[in-house]
Amino acid sequence: MSEQSLSSIQLNDEEIDILENDYDSLLYGLIHFDKPEDLPRRQFLLMAIQFYEEKIRNEKESLQIAQYYINIGHWHLLLEDFSKALSAYQAAYALDTKLNQNPEFLFGLGIVYHHYGADNHAIRAYQQVLYVDSQFLRRSDVHLRLGLIYKKLGDYSSSLKYFQRALGDSTSTCSLTRSELSYLIGFVYEQQGHLTEAENLYEKLLQQQDIISTKLEGKILRQLGWLYFYAPITNNSNTDNLNLERENQIKKAINTLEQACKSDPTCGITYYYLGRCYAALRKHTEAFYTYRNCVDKLDQNADVWCSIGVLYQHQNQTMDALQAFVCAIQIDNKHAIAWMDLGILYETSGQAQDALFCYKKAILDKDESWNPELINRINQLQSCLAQIPEGAIGKQPRGPLPKVEDAFTLPIPVELTAKQQQMATTSSATTSLPTPTSTNVSNQPYISSSEILPPPSSSILTSNIKPSIDVIRIDKRLLTNDQSIRPKRIKTEPTLSFTSNTSSNDLQKIIKHSSSPLPPLPVSYLPDGHIPKPPPIPKMTSFDLNPATPSVILETRREATSTQLQQYCFSQPICIVRGIANVLKLDLGLFSTKTLVESQPDHPIEVRTQRQQATDENFDFTSMTTPLKNVWKYQSTRSYTTIAKYAQYQAYSYHDMVKDELNEPILPSINTNSSLITNSNMIMTNGTSKKVTNNKTSNTNSSISSIRIIKSGTNVDLSDERKWAAQLSELTKLPLFMRVVSAGNLLSHVGYTVLGMNSVQLYMKVPGSRTPGHQENNNFCAININIGPGDCEWFAVANEYWGVIHTLCEKNGVDFLTGSWWPILDDLYDAQVPVYRFIQKPGDLVFVNTGCIYWVQSIGWCNNISWNAGPLTYNQYYASIERYEWNRLCSCKSIVPMVHLSWNIARNIRINDRHLFELIKFILHQSLKYIQLTLSYLEQQFGRGVDVRKQLRTLHEPAHYCITCDYEVFNILFITEIDRKHVVRCLDCALQYDKQLENVVVLYQFTLDDLKTVYDQFQLYLLPTLNSTTRSITNT
Ligand SMILES: [Zn+2]
Repeated sequence: MSEQSLSSIQLNDEEIDILENDYDSLLYGLIHFDKPEDLPRRQFLLMAIQFYEEKIRNEKESLQIAQYYINIGHWHLLLEDFSKALSAYQAAYALDTKLNQNPEFLFGLGIVYHHYGADNHAIRAYQQVLYVDSQFLRRSDVHLRLGLIYKKLGDYSSSLKYFQRALGDSTSTCSLTRSELSYLIGFVYEQQGHLTEAENLYEKLLQQQDIISTKLEGKILRQLGWLYFYAPITNNSNTDNLNLERENQIKKAINTLEQACKSDPTCGITYYYLGRCYAALRKHTEAFYTYRNCVDKLDQNADVWCSIGVLYQHQNQTMDALQAFVCAIQIDNKHAIAWMDLGILYETSGQAQDALFCYKKAILDKDESWNPELINRINQLQSCLAQIPEGAIGKQPRGPLPKVEDAFTLPIPVELTAKQQQMATTSSATTSLPTPTSTNVSNQPYISSSEILPPPSSSILTSNIKPSIDVIRIDKRLLTNDQSIRPKRIKTEPTLSFTSNTSSNDLQKIIKHSSSPLPPLPVSYLPDGHIPKPPPIPKMTSFDLNPATPSVILETRREATSTQLQQYCFSQPICIVRGIANVLKLDLGLFSTKTLVESQPDHPIEVRTQRQQATDENFDFTSMTTPLKNVWKYQSTRSYTTIAKYAQYQAYSYHDMVKDELNEPILPSINTNSSLITNSNMIMTNGTSKKVTNNKTSNTNSSISSIRIIKSGTNVDLSDERKWAAQLSELTKLPLFMRVVSAGNLLSHVGYTVLGMNSVQLYMKVPGSRTPGHQENNNFCAININIGPGDCEWFAVANEYWGVIHTLCEKNGVDFLTGSWWPILDDLYDAQVPVYRFIQKPGDLVFVNTGCIYWVQSIGWCNNISWNAGPLTYNQYYASIERYEWNRLCSCKSIVPMVHLSWNIARNIRINDRHLFELIKFILHQSLKYIQLTLSYLEQQFGRGVDVRKQLRTLHEPAHYCITCDYEVFNILFITEIDRKHVVRCLDCALQYDKQLENVVVLYQFTLDDLKTVYDQFQLYLLPTLNSTTRSITNT
């Protein structure tokens, strides 16, 4: 291509204006280029890209170049050329890191990451869009996309949350219709096992036939029909009618699925479901017919082949059945049902050895509750086979079917191989695309533009016809539901640079001058306004990855109450304090199981059912690989019982364990009744249980080991001062900085009970009870005392490494903030993360400092008590407010309402630490600014249309959180009614719910004058003398 042809492209000012203002990532998914009439628009964009590449070559100013790259990135995105879009976005970010505050850029980048399946990157980009612009024009699409990613990751509660937010948002443009969103919600309900909700939702959607497309109708009918088929029968008072009822249910399902086929004849899954229904009614011909239909429409589906195998088996076509099961397993190696069915097929053909092999494959990733009969059958088969002399097995007559190892080498039926080839080509096509792997987009330097942006195909260049501007004009602002054109947001918030001397009057003057028609965006409470992010990997200060745990042994009462102890605890990431119970004469017996049962037997306790493992192991029991691999994801299930019942279990498990030790080796016993009191030994077969590390021998031995299922009791709430008076008063013997309540403890100023934080929680444990890895809520400190009689083992990592652990969590598919994880120690050592590891004996107190990450496992039988504390220091306050912002970014609730708390601190305490004072004053400043901007917006926009009513706070009234986004709502509450209950929303969510605020009541809890007074009177407290304590309490 010659230079001339490039320079011949010229765009006039109007065209440039349209391109730069109307064509950006916001249009993605709303305009298309695939129809012939779109060709001029497409050509126009391609030409624009060339024109801007030329501009880049002639530009020196790096920020300007970055802007050109963003434009090019957006246009490639609109043309769905994702790899070029990614390159351009990366080039832009490399030149201008401030782009992480540009929502259009972040949205485009998120879509590209999403396209390539870089889920964690996409999540981060989307979350940042909402963080920097909570009123983003494509907000509901961002929610939808987050919902889709979490659905894919199997995190259904997050997925549901985002789908609901997309649906509840009436003012932003979404690329899916409300019915489509509702369908997705129904689908998630199904995955969560909320079948009634799903059914009701689907049925409701079908009633709106005039507004749903036939394709969507087909999907809904398909899910509904399938749900009728698999949902358990409910009112079965008369067991005689059970079969009849079941039959009617299946007929209803068939009816619905047939309708689904009519609405959408192209969907293979519908045919599969229909086939399953026919098979269940033993209508084999119909079933075969529909499965055939399904194989034609679905590429690769193990379920279909498995079902076909079952049909063949019913017809006694064993060889056909075998091949169908093998097909299923070849598609999905972990298909337990296919393995089990294949095993049954072998067993009915008299090939016990092969059957046993398949059965073991089937239960490999299951726990004992999945199929107890199968586990019994395995044991029986094993003991039968064990009685056959060693050499005799090979000499057994050959069964009618090929042996299992040969079955997988049989020629595959032609139609399946064709399918597999097709699969192979499509999958390689999708994986060969470049994927963004670097954690930081700026890491990947932009390769010279000629490499990344090759010249477009000649047809465009040779056609010198320039598309006319009429076909091009798309004003994206018209695409919103909003009839009034919404101006692009220009920073209209007062750009008042904060100093701690700024008075409330200064603030108000500036706000009065700013008149924005848009609602104010949430303010950042971080002093430099940066977007919170995990810290980078700390520079190594020591090479000791197993540092000695800081510990203190107390010998006198004086030592326990000394300031040195406090200073030491505050200076270490974590610290073990020994002998404190002794020197302070704490009666820990008050927290023993015996006392608890005597005093409050019916008190509720949360139970976590988990597997007992060695403290440094966390095996993935869902994997098929041998030996079992360690993973980060840690699973437990939740239930509830009472203290008395748990105590009984605790005692029983103790006697049981002692008995087991006397009777080694453990005989495998299967207990299907998993009530609290039963001993739940379970077996793992095929040498894959925890004991097996040398798999070579174990695979042949088929050894059975024992994995114990245990129940640990957590989160027993001891906040009730009447119920737990003796216990709580005992803890007042502790030094001030460790106490549950003290004037110098930030959490004592929240003003209401935050369970487990400013109140005591109790844990009741058996050996192996785990507290998975976490940081405390809002990075507060924690105090934990082991009551005994057994020990606990602790693992801890200093706060500055949370970024590293966050990254490791992402890599391992667990959510750092909300997930349940047990770190693999080797992964931490490989990442150069020092890990404290120590034993907490009865009477030992562990002080967990700000932001320390830790995970704990009990070695023996013991109880623990714990609570949080917030030292009045700059470090603690900053860490808490930073986590507050990080939580907002991640759409997680901050359990400690930092804004509410800051106003209380300003009222209650005089601060003499300048750093801390300025931080709190800044938070108040931001809060006051937001309140004033909100009031000013309401007045300008609605005038008398919105009534702002006063409703003062009651004593111990908890802080408020938005029902939609979980963000703290301070002072100005937007109240709506849901199911006759009043719920609170933030301004943004209230406007999304009801744009005119017609059905919203606006309340305020403090007058502006009151807050201004508190703000102005909150001043640095200069100590009269030099040697006073670090703070002064005015209100205790
Ligand atoms: Zn909200």
